[in-house]
Amino acid sequence: MQTGQRAGAVGASSSNAKDRTIRVSEEDLVHRLAIRAAGLFDGQEFLAGPVLVMSENGSIVDIDCSGAHPPEHADMLDLRDLTLLPGLVDAHTHLSWEPQGNPEELLFEDGERLLARARLHAGQALSAGITTLRDLGSRGFDLAGLREDYRRGRVVGPELLISGPPITRSKGHGWFLGGVADSLDQVIAAVAERARRGVDWVKVMATGGFTTQGSDPARPNYDLETMRALVRSAHARGLPVTAHAHATSGIADLVEAGVDGIEHCTFYTSRGAVLDATLVEAMAEQGIRAGITLARPQGVPEPWIQDILDRVVPHAGELMRAGVRVALCTDAGINPARPHDVLPADLVYAADRGLSGRQVLAAATSVAAEVCGVGHRKGRIAPGYDADLIAVSGNPLHDIRAILEVRAVVRAGLLVR
Ligand SMILES: [Zn+2]
Repeated sequence: MQTGQRAGAVGASSSNAKDRTIRVSEEDLVHRLAIRAAGLFDGQEFLAGPVLVMSENGSIVDIDCSGAHPPEHADMLDLRDLTLLPGLVDAHTHLSWEPQGNPEELLFEDGERLLARARLHAGQALSAGITTLRDLGSRGFDLAGLREDYRRGRVVGPELLISGPPITRSKGHGWFLGGVADSLDQVIAAVAERARRGVDWVKVMATGGFTTQGSDPARPNYDLETMRALVRSAHARGLPVTAHAHATSGIADLVEAGVDGIEHCTFYTSRGAVLDATLVEAMAEQGIRAGITLARPQGVPEPWIQDILDRVVPHAGELMRAGVRVALCTDAGINPARPHDVLPADLVYAADRGLSGRQVLAAATSVAAEVCGVGHRKGRIAPGYDADLIAVSGNPLHDIRAILEVRAVVRAGLLVR
């Protein structure tokens, strides 16, 4: 998917105009798209139509429900009986990971190959309707170039937010991404490097993980002093911090350290996954957001793992009820069951386990955008927001399965699928 299709006749674009050396007025350089549909979910509420969404140069400028005609000079995209939604936001993905591969080999793989793979995965995600992706752990910082290519429209792709390699201990969770820092000084230096490399988020492995051999999900990776220093130093550089955490003791340290986001947020204890009401309340009060990755059982897991997996969706519901901003996200790339376009299927899984269609859709659009720090321009269909939209049949609030078959994808005001 290299170039965006425009829907119908368009005024000369700036590059075309230059090539053919014809004069164009400023008005001709404005690309307008009018999208007609039967209704829309704006990221929060459902609006019965017919609706007409107007975009100019990639931003939504107006939404009409009065049956008005599209303005002149606008490309028309008539989606008839389809419903519009904001493009989906996957708040936790790993673009350069091969789902079928062995993550420990990432450290030794050729950089060009990793980047080509990330490009392929970003395209897969975009085709499934995921127009914004937050990469929380790829090797190196090469995704920054891809992010800029997409942002400037050099190549059509989703909006990327990146963390670079997560900061972790020697042989700690995710060590194979190259972000190892053991001492407090090394941790501070790692934050400084990320700021220089232009990341959007600092990601730290605050506890061990289930998927890295030799790391322990039941234990914090760093002491509280180090975690505090990490957060302070990132904030001083204007960077938010999100932390991978399973163990409740690790989550407690993160709340104390004033982190901005917690990934997985398993509340893992010796008795399994048990929510800690005091910590949940503190998260809500401090505005600490949660990226709940929807790991699903593969095959027949051991009972204690099955028990942890069974609690993921109910816990997400309880965090939401307590007022924590929760993104439902994928951890795409980490195993064969987590391809980079898995988010829609994960949302169906969450709805099947008790969350309402509205909770699920908001947690993958407006709220997910907030969790990623881009809630002012992503995840909603509203004037001033980026024109990233998708279309599905029927009303997905009533039947979430509609999201499995995305019928159209508009990215920055261009029809890309
Ligand atoms: Zn992850």
